[in-house]
Order: sequence, then structure tokens, then C-alpha cells
Amino acid sequence: LEPAYSFMIRMRMPGGELTADQWKKIDEISNTYGNETIKLSSRQAVQFHGIIKFDLKKSIQMMDEALLDSIAGCGDVNRNVMCTPDPSLSKANEEVYAYAKTISEHLMPSSRAYHEIWLDEGKGEGRELVIGGEEEIEPLYGKHYLPRKFKIGIAIPPYNDSDVYINDIGLIAIVENDKLLGFNVAVGGGLGMTFGRDDTMPRLASEIGFCTPDQVLDVCAEIMMIQRDYGNRQDRKLSRFKYTIDKYGLEWFSEELHNRLGYSLDAVRPAVFTTTADQYGWHKDRHGKWHLLLHVEHGRIRDTKQLQQKTALLQIAEKNLCGFRLTANQNMLLHGIKTADKKKIEKILEQNGQYADGRELSGMRRNSIACVSMNTCPLGMAEAERYLPTLITKLEPILEKHGLLQDEIKIRMTGCPNGCGRSVMAEIGLIGKSLGRYNMYLGGDHQGLRLNTLYRENIDEATILELLDGLFEDYAANREASESFGDFAIRQAWVAPTENRIGYFSL
Ligand code: SF4
Repeated sequence: LEPAYSFMIRMRMPGGELTADQWKKIDEISNTYGNETIKLSSRQAVQFHGIIKFDLKKSIQMMDEALLDSIAGCGDVNRNVMCTPDPSLSKANEEVYAYAKTISEHLMPSSRAYHEIWLDEGKGEGRELVIGGEEEIEPLYGKHYLPRKFKIGIAIPPYNDSDVYINDIGLIAIVENDKLLGFNVAVGGGLGMTFGRDDTMPRLASEIGFCTPDQVLDVCAEIMMIQRDYGNRQDRKLSRFKYTIDKYGLEWFSEELHNRLGYSLDAVRPAVFTTTADQYGWHKDRHGKWHLLLHVEHGRIRDTKQLQQKTALLQIAEKNLCGFRLTANQNMLLHGIKTADKKKIEKILEQNGQYADGRELSGMRRNSIACVSMNTCPLGMAEAERYLPTLITKLEPILEKHGLLQDEIKIRMTGCPNGCGRSVMAEIGLIGKSLGRYNMYLGGDHQGLRLNTLYRENIDEATILELLDGLFEDYAANREASESFGDFAIRQAWVAPTENRIGYFSL
């Protein structure tokens, strides 16, 4: 007998897009093989938790029935490609969104191992690999794949809801008169650091140029292959692309990229971001249909006594009322809704304990993200997803006391410094140090252009509440009109601004 090892499966879904039928299948998999909950990750992917080893194959086969897969969901490859999730709002959005899919497919490993192992494809069927003697060589990944995982995000200004600058490659769509002209290309972003290793740090991607839509696949592939060839393979803590960029320098990198492409990127074009937040509530799209951005607390969809969100979403899918799209802020966008169906959706939600417009939520709760951490992620040193809702509940009376209950204050928590919940970009970032203790970081902004800075180390809940009470009081009394909490933190010199702020790089 072997222990009942349980696993997490993360699906690949560029841009977080799903049909109603696919959502029904996801719900079924979570009930049949998972822990009856569905986790929306901060990279627009679905995760199943608690899948017993012997059920892995059956779960993956069930995904395949709904044309879903887990290829490159994990591993040292290009991961799920993120994209601002509302293509229905404009023609340009639709064009941009298509690139999330194309880039994801272009950078997928060619190996058929997934199909052979999990889907019982016969050995050798469907292979298109370059064969080097007896050995299969991946066209893009070579013999040894990448030194580390690789992440790509796309954003369409003014919305930076995919936190585009924390990706290995960030693509900023440049749109004129509702037409996609191309992308500003930013390289070398990354969230993680390791406590006790001063040579590790989060980094915002540096903008190196502009490419046209027909260049973007090659540009992404060549950038990824530079990391394949030059990334650190000796020390895994220093193997992300951001360290390669810092080791060799942006000047070297740009020259290497231009040599491989055979042409230079154009100069970076102006682009202005105003927010990283999701736009909650109802919005009309360009086809006259509606979409609804629905709050999901830290991406965990389940049924509780107060809120039966899993049941509600299943009922909406069963009635085929809309498509489903995950956001990078761990929320759910229901889209393609006919005017006549708006009321039906609102009724289903209300019967299951949720208002469509999120009227019951504080500004801080609407702007919160937490990673999975305990008890699912083995790297978690402190609680995150299971604790942040409680912490916010304790902070809400304090916010109310200072007249800040509906202020949009970004709080994010992760159980370790790997940063999956993008805590390093928050106005209040809490990173787990040990059980019940966190480092507090302040000074992120609303646009996703500034990392935060360490404010207090290794503090417990009582200290967090006491400190924030004082800071909120100061903010409420002394802020300037429209000044965000993160900007105020810098102006008041609670923390120094980080040096790694977005700026243009040019040769
Ligand atoms: Fe990521 Fe660390 Fe959270 Fe695990 S505990 S999900 S590795 S940030």
C-alpha cells in the first residue's frame, strides 16, 4: 500500500476563457476527484486541489472531454499567457486577446508525452518533433528545456489588471482608433525572492522596444530562447529570467535579441495605465450584450452557509446564459449576456447569497488577492487564502472608523516570498514569515508601476491591526484629493520609494 498522495492540477487557459460547457465539466471534476472547490489562480487559470494520485489520469481525461488541458500548466516552460479579460468591449481588445492564445500555442512544447501518458495516445502517434538520432529535440526548448518557469502577460492600457510588468515578458498593447498597432515589449519582470538571500529580489520588467503584431510571436520565442541559452542552471534561486537580464545588462540583451531577430525593435510608444483593479458590475459590450464582473473571494469557488457561489455558477452554466472568463485578480467575468438574461443571472446569484454589483463588499475586500498557501502549497510558511478574509473582517471596522470603508486600498497576502499573489505590488503587502507572522510592505501604487518596500518585519495580527489603525488615521486626515494609500505612504516617507520603477530603456 502506498500513501494517498494528493495533487494539484493547474489547467492551461490563455486569457482565462471558458465556455459554459467547460465550466460544467470543471465543476464535475472538482466534485468527482477534487476537494469540491475550484481555485481561480492569479494567472487566470483554474486549479484543482486534493486530487488523489490514482485519480490524476481520470481527471485529466475528463478535462480532455471538454477540450481542456494541463499542458505547460507547471514546469520549466512558458506558462499560462495572461491577457486583459474583456475582448468583447472593443474590436482592438478582441484582436489583442487572440494573441494570448496564439502565443500560448506557439510556445508550447511539441512533445506528445502528455497525450501518451494521460490520454493513452499510442507511442509515436502525432509526433512532429525534430529527431536528433535516437533523441527527441524540442524545437524551442532544446534538450533541457528552460532553467526555470517563464511567464508572459498582456495588458491593454489604461487597464493593467494583468500586472503586466511582473512577467518575464510583458506586452503592452498599443491601440489607435480601435486598431491594434502592436506591443511595447517589457522584459525581466518577476515577483519572487528568497528570505536570507540578498541577491534575490522582485523586479519590474524593463521596456525595450515596440513590435508589430506580425512580429510578436518571433519576438516572444527569441526572448524565451535567450533565457534558455543564458539563464543560470547552477543556482535555481537565481535562474529566473530577471537575473539573466541583470547579469548581462539590458544593452547586451537588446543587441542579442536584435541579432537573433535580424531586425531592431522600434522605440517604445507612449502608454498610460490608470488601474490594476477589476471593473466590477455590469458593462455593455460592443455587440450590445452584457458582461458582469463578479467578486470571488481570493479565487476560491465553493458553497458555504452564507454564499453558494459554486451552485450559482453551475446553475448559470446549466442554463447556458453566458461565457466564463477568469481575471488575473482571481475574479470571474460572465460575458455575452443578453439583456433579457440579466435579471435571471441576478436572481440566481441573489438566491445563492451574492449581489451582482458587489454592494456588500468593502473597498479593501474588492481589492484583495491571496495565494493558496496552507494547507495546499508545501512552500507556505504562514496562512494566506484561509486567513486574509478574516484579517479584512477585522480591518473593516477600523477602516469604517476612519471613513475609509469604500476606499480602494490594495491588500495582498502570500504565504511565502515566492509572491504568487503579487503581494510585492500591493499598497499593503503581507508576506508570510512563520505561522501567524508576516512582513509588512507598503507603497505599491494603483497602476502596477511600482514595487512596495519593507515597512515592518515578522509581525503578528495584533501588531498589523495596531499599525494599520495609526496609518489609516494619518491617511484619512492628511491625504490630498485622490491620493492613493500607496502614494501617501511614499509622500509621508513611511517607506522609501523603490528604485525599480517603470522607465524606458533605449540604446
Ligand atoms: Fe506561491 Fe508561496 Fe503562496 Fe505557495 S505559499 S502559493 S509558493 S506564494
